[in-house]
Amino acid sequence: MELLSLSASELGRAIREGRTTAVEAMEAVLEQIEEKEKIYHCYVTVDTEGALRRAEEVQKRIVAGELTGPLAGVPVAVKDNLCTQGLLTTCSSRMLRNFIPPYSAEAVKSLERAGAVLIGKTNMDEFAMGSTTETSVCGPTCNPHNPEHVPGGSSGGSAAAVAAGECFFALGSDTGGSIRQPASHCGVVGLKPTYGTVSRFGLVAYGSSLDQIGPLCRTVEDCAVILEILASGKGEEKGIIRDSTLMEREEVDFTAALIEDVTGMRIGIPKAWLADRAAGGTEEGLDSEVREAVLNAAEVLRKKGAVIEEFDLDLAEYAVPTYYTIACAEASSNLERFDGVKYGYRAESVEELHQMYKKTRSAGFGPEVKRRIMLGSFVLSSGYYDAFYLKALRVKAMIKKAFDEAFAKYDCILGPVAPTTAPKLGESLSDPLKMYLGDIYTVSVNLAGLPAVSIPCGMDKRGLPIGLQLIGDCFQEKKILRAAYTYESCSGRTVKLYNRRHRR
Ligand code: GLN
Repeated sequence: MELLSLSASELGRAIREGRTTAVEAMEAVLEQIEEKEKIYHCYVTVDTEGALRRAEEVQKRIVAGELTGPLAGVPVAVKDNLCTQGLLTTCSSRMLRNFIPPYSAEAVKSLERAGAVLIGKTNMDEFAMGSTTETSVCGPTCNPHNPEHVPGGSSGGSAAAVAAGECFFALGSDTGGSIRQPASHCGVVGLKPTYGTVSRFGLVAYGSSLDQIGPLCRTVEDCAVILEILASGKGEEKGIIRDSTLMEREEVDFTAALIEDVTGMRIGIPKAWLADRAAGGTEEGLDSEVREAVLNAAEVLRKKGAVIEEFDLDLAEYAVPTYYTIACAEASSNLERFDGVKYGYRAESVEELHQMYKKTRSAGFGPEVKRRIMLGSFVLSSGYYDAFYLKALRVKAMIKKAFDEAFAKYDCILGPVAPTTAPKLGESLSDPLKMYLGDIYTVSVNLAGLPAVSIPCGMDKRGLPIGLQLIGDCFQEKKILRAAYTYESCSGRTVKLYNRRHRR
């Protein structure tokens, strides 16, 4: 059996049925990592010894009948902004290069309770700020479809690891697209749940009102299976509230939505999202190959009985400025804690406290993080607070209203994930504004707290994957999973990449 070609749920089944073991699966993944890491650099930390030990322990518990769930024994990679007890958690930043958390994130614990086995921590944009995984202090990750291109970001290491067969599934975090966009660029499935579905306890905060943890994986089935487990996390422990924004939702049987049928489903496509530059759309404009692939996907769903319509989604053009105002404001506040006193990096040879703060933060953060702290501090400063931050909050409320109106008419919204396929390494860093504009189709989903999934829907001429985005109303993950499952059933699943030969 070619283990690496299996999805997480298929592997789980094979382990339960005794056709393979958690240890064999882990050995296969570690071998793949050994061979491919030199080229792709998906991981910041691979815990080889710990991973094998955990796999052995889990295998014993599976044999003893203690672990019977769908992910028992399945190797998982975790983005490096999720705390893992006893294992380095760096956020790909110099600031946290030596930080070993004393506890694990609730999402990680949920997976471990379900018997998934942690392999290591994946590379990301520093503190999840970026769209290419190039702002990582550890150097960039390469796209397994073509190592000259970026994997997207900020969860680029997670997406690339799934595509390269260096794990069976991974966790990412999505503040403005960081699960969906790298999933799209790497040809895998990624889902950002409704805000409040997955506990953020132990996730290093970027924009707290926007951040959600979610899965990156090979199939829509995996997505539903993983989400069920993630949504089972608890918001409190021994009477102490760990995440006050967690919903503890009742209906989390997401796998019940894996039905190949969209008869009568109403799907809307925002007109402005299809416009290219020439048609007066976004400044970036939608690449024609991406547009074609997305419209073809819509056509597949129409043939399966969905009713597809284009509509005007108000305020779409304000999503990016509103997002960057709010995300940077929250980031500037969240990142205040990295001051050299409590944890992480501390500058040496300093004479007094303020100098220590200054030197620590100057040397500990990279340029993109600093840019955002400055932007955020600016929009929160007295004199500019009303003009920028408050205004952004008002526009955010209006964007949510526009979505509410859309969801009164449609079950799902369909569109692209990103305006283009993965850019070349080094192409994006020189022009941050252009990079920000690339988030045009993903950020409004976070502003409105909605769930959205990205699934592969084709390749461009250069052989780079294109993603399709399906957005649902709050708590309607099942609808988007059903549409995604139907599309995937008709179009074939994720491109198998694990055996591709790339040389450095
Ligand atoms: N690219 C967006 C940003 O840089 C989204 C990042 C994210 O979702 N973490 O803010």
